[in-house]
Amino acid sequence: MTKFVAAILLLAFAASPSSSASPIEVAVSRSGAEWTADFHFPRRAAAWAFVRSSVTRNGARPWRPMSWTVETPGVRIERRGHYDVLAAENGRPLPERIRIKFAPFTGDLIADYDPALSFTDGSVALYSEQFDAFPLRSAQRAERLPIDLGDSEVAIDPTRVTFRDTAGEVLHRGRRVAAVSLDDDDGTYVLFGPAEPVATEALAAIIDPALPGWIRRSLLGDTPRILAGYAAALGPAPGPKPTLMVSWAGATPRLTSMGGSVLPGLIAMTYEGAGVVEESEAVRREGLWFIAHEGAHFWLGQAVTYQYSRDAWITEGGADLLAIRAVPAVDPAYDARGALQAAVDDCAALTAGRGIAAAEQRNEHRAYYACGAVFGLVAEAASGRPFADFVRKLIDANRRDKVVTREEWLAALDRASGDPMLSDSIGRLIDRGADDPKAALTALFTRAGIAFTVGQDGTPRLQ
Ligand SMILES: [Zn+2]
Repeated sequence: MTKFVAAILLLAFAASPSSSASPIEVAVSRSGAEWTADFHFPRRAAAWAFVRSSVTRNGARPWRPMSWTVETPGVRIERRGHYDVLAAENGRPLPERIRIKFAPFTGDLIADYDPALSFTDGSVALYSEQFDAFPLRSAQRAERLPIDLGDSEVAIDPTRVTFRDTAGEVLHRGRRVAAVSLDDDDGTYVLFGPAEPVATEALAAIIDPALPGWIRRSLLGDTPRILAGYAAALGPAPGPKPTLMVSWAGATPRLTSMGGSVLPGLIAMTYEGAGVVEESEAVRREGLWFIAHEGAHFWLGQAVTYQYSRDAWITEGGADLLAIRAVPAVDPAYDARGALQAAVDDCAALTAGRGIAAAEQRNEHRAYYACGAVFGLVAEAASGRPFADFVRKLIDANRRDKVVTREEWLAALDRASGDPMLSDSIGRLIDRGADDPKAALTALFTRAGIAFTVGQDGTPRLQ
């Protein structure tokens, strides 16, 4: 059985903290085998709910009740609707100080970052935003909250989390520090324990010592080249040197699994299963592709991002095309044409009578990847320049507000191509799709100067 889990996460919670309120202070520390989170809430509330309350991928269970133990008398942790909630057993307001003991939870969550990554040398990386909370007038109110807080009226308090290890320093953004305090905007993994990063010019890598050697060699050999290639074409990545964190969950029988996520300046991956112990071209490719796509998000996603999630074609399709152009440099046998053709086919299938903008409401997220890559291909052909040049101009023009709007992307295409008909056609596909998407793409490719033939079913076949 082969299972690839690639949780692609670039989550932005629309309900952002009000900066004027005093923060929830959380002191997280490890002392030997004991982990403690001491919450100091800025006021008394009937209950506090956790912003990130996703459930396990395996079994859809809430993970905090399995991992956290409330030490403060009269307080318990419970599940209410979509949220884990701290509530008083007697229904009175909670104390301002609450102590939790926890066992870092390393399971996969649905559409959220794993709370912890564990390494076989005893090192543990904690995801910082698992402690972010908001007050409730009663625990029951959580049952009426939507799964996406951005759709609610909830006011999120700022949370400030300080991480400390009594045994020594913690590792944050590639640097050892005695302690680190993080605000809400800085969601990342903080590493406890002895794991030492391997530093290269392009990144710092923390790799589980028990990870199969061929994966380690492949990742350490190819990741720096991919990121250095992006930096050369797109300019330096924002922030400090990126970190790659790779953990190993063991040689579980009958399993071939690679999962991962990306955060500002950080790519986290976990390999698991007997199926990845021996060198395998498919597993190597999957890892490379993951790093190439996620690494591209340091630029298209973090240096600049989209305005609305319906514009995700800008970042997802853009990251896909950057990756398709980057992978052949480290994997000459990679089939870039095949990947592009798959984007063309999927984009045609997913725009028949429906626009790309609303794809998220239909759970057709692939439309953003496929059509975004196709639009990138149009920009590339019409400008006669590598797609990275087009992206670099977008980044340079939008460094200040860090947002590339749909209008800005299409205007950049007009400038690069000198042909506003291209952006007109793309705008129609975004808003409404096409009655005959194959014909619409054929017309678009002809105008842009993309080399193709037309297949028997009318699909443009890239050459
Ligand atoms: Zn992505």
